[in-house]
Amino acid sequence: MNKKRVCILGAGLSGISLALSQENKGKQVLIFEKDLRVGGVLESVKSNGYLMDYGANTLSVRTKKTEDFLKQHKILEYAVDANQKCSKRFIVKKNQIISLPQGPLSFLSSSFLSPLGKLRLCLEPFISRKQDNASEETMASFVERRLGKQALDYGANPFIGGVYASRPESLILKHAFPRLYETERKFGSIFWGMMRGGVQPSEKLPKSRLISFQEGMQELPKRLAEKLQTPPVLGCEIKKIEIKNNGKWSVQGETQDGKIKEELFDEVISTLPSHVLLNIEWVGIKAAHLLKTLTQTFHPPLALCFQGFNRQQIQHPLDGFGFLVPEKEKRKILGTLFSSTLFQNRAPENCALLTTFVGGERNPELCTLPESEIMELAYKENQKLLGIDGKPTFEHIKLWPKSIPIPDSTMDARIKAASALSLENKGLQILGSHINGAPLPNCMVT
Ligand SMILES: Cc1cc2nc3c(=O)[nH]c(=O)nc-3n(C[C@H](O)[C@H](O)[C@H](O)COP(=O)(O)OP(=O)(O)OC[C@H]3O[C@@H](n4cnc5c(N)ncnc54)[C@H](O)[C@@H]3O)c2cc1C
Repeated sequence: MNKKRVCILGAGLSGISLALSQENKGKQVLIFEKDLRVGGVLESVKSNGYLMDYGANTLSVRTKKTEDFLKQHKILEYAVDANQKCSKRFIVKKNQIISLPQGPLSFLSSSFLSPLGKLRLCLEPFISRKQDNASEETMASFVERRLGKQALDYGANPFIGGVYASRPESLILKHAFPRLYETERKFGSIFWGMMRGGVQPSEKLPKSRLISFQEGMQELPKRLAEKLQTPPVLGCEIKKIEIKNNGKWSVQGETQDGKIKEELFDEVISTLPSHVLLNIEWVGIKAAHLLKTLTQTFHPPLALCFQGFNRQQIQHPLDGFGFLVPEKEKRKILGTLFSSTLFQNRAPENCALLTTFVGGERNPELCTLPESEIMELAYKENQKLLGIDGKPTFEHIKLWPKSIPIPDSTMDARIKAASALSLENKGLQILGSHINGAPLPNCMVT
C-alpha cells in the first residue's frame, strides 16, 4: 500500500517535531522551508568569540512529556544545564537591582514587596475562586484579584515583559498559563494547589531543568532534523496551495533561484507564522475567509541588543539569570539576561555577554529607532544599573518586527478558525506557535 504523503510548511521547531511524529505514524513527509537553514526563530550566531541566540535562550524541561520527547529523539544527551546561579533572578526597583526571594525566609526579608504587599500576598489562600467569565480573565486581573496590586506591578508585569514582550493586561490566563488557570478551578487557590502538587502532579518532573546546547538553541531543531527520513527542502518559499478535484493538495514553492517547485500530497500541515498565511495564494479551499481571522495574531516588535564587555568593566557580580524591569519603573528596557553567566561558552574568556530586550508591547516605538540608538539606550540603562565602566567591546543587534505570538483575546477565535478550516478542508491543518502556544515545549508536538 502506498504511504500517505504529507507536506509540512516551515522547518521551525513545530514543523520538524510534527514531521517526526507524522513519520512515526508511517507517513511519507516532506518539509518546505523558505530559509537555507532549519530552526526558524531558533537561530544561534557566533561572532568574535560570542555565541548569541536570536530567539529562545533556554528550554524549560518541567514535564515528563517534554523530557520524553527529548529522550525519544536522543537529544537530551547533548543538553547543557544552565548555571546553578541562575535560580537567582533580579528586578529593578527604585533604580536598584534587587534579587527576588527564593524561599519563605528571603521572602520576608526581601524589599521586592512592601510589608502591606507581602500581607496581601499571604491572603491568597483565603480569596474565593472566580465564578463568572473565568475563561476570559486576563493574567493582570487574575494576579491582582488573587495576589494584590503590588504582585501585579512588581511580579507579573516584569515577568510577562520578559517572557512574552507583552503586558499581563493583554494575556488571557487560560491560554498563557493553563496550569495556573486549572489550579484555581480545581483547588480554589494557588497556595492550596501547590501544597497538593498542582494539576496533573504525575506529569511533572521531580526536578525541572533549564537547558540549552553547546552550539546554542539552534542545535535542538538541527539535531531533530537530522533524524528525519527525508531532509527538508530548504530555500523554497511557499507561494500557492491548491486543492485539486481528486482531493490531492498541490503545494507550489519558489526556490531562491526563482524556479517553481510543485508537488502533490494527501495532507498539508502549516506551521508558518500567522502573518505569512495571506501571502500565499490559496486556491479552492473552503471557508478561506477564516485565514484572515488567523492573521489577527499580535506579535509585538522586539529588539535584542547583545553587548560584550571585559569582565572587569562590570561592577555587578552578574550572579544570576538577569534582571527584569517593571513598567512602573519607567525605564526604556524590558530587561537584561546575563547570558555568559547562564551558559559557559557564550563569551570569550574574562568577558561577559549581556542580552538586553528593548521594545515589546510596552515601547513598540523604540524598535523603529536607528539600530545605533537602540544599542545606545540599552547600554546607558545597563551602565547605570550594573555599574559599567566604559563602552562595550562587542555589539550586535537582532530586530524582530514581529516577535512572539501573544495568547490574547483573539486566541479563542483563532483556535476555532484553525479547527474549522481543518473540518471544511479534508487533509489541511493549520498549527504552529500562534495556535499551540509560543513556549518551546508547546512546539514539540508528539
Ligand atoms: C525573541 C524571542 C525569544 C523567545 N524566547 C523563548 C524562550 O526563552 N523560551 C521559550 O520556550 N520560547 C521562547 N520563544 C518562543 C519560541 O522560540 C517560538 O515560539 C518557537 O521557536 C516557534 O517555533 P515555530 O516552529 O512554531 O515557528 P518558527 O520558528 O517561526 O518557524 C516557522 C518557519 O516557517 C518558515 N517560513 C515562513 N514563511 C514561509 C513560507 N512562505 N514558505 C516556507 N517556509 C516559510 C520560517 O522561515 C520558519 O523557519 C521566543 C521567541 C522569540 C521571537
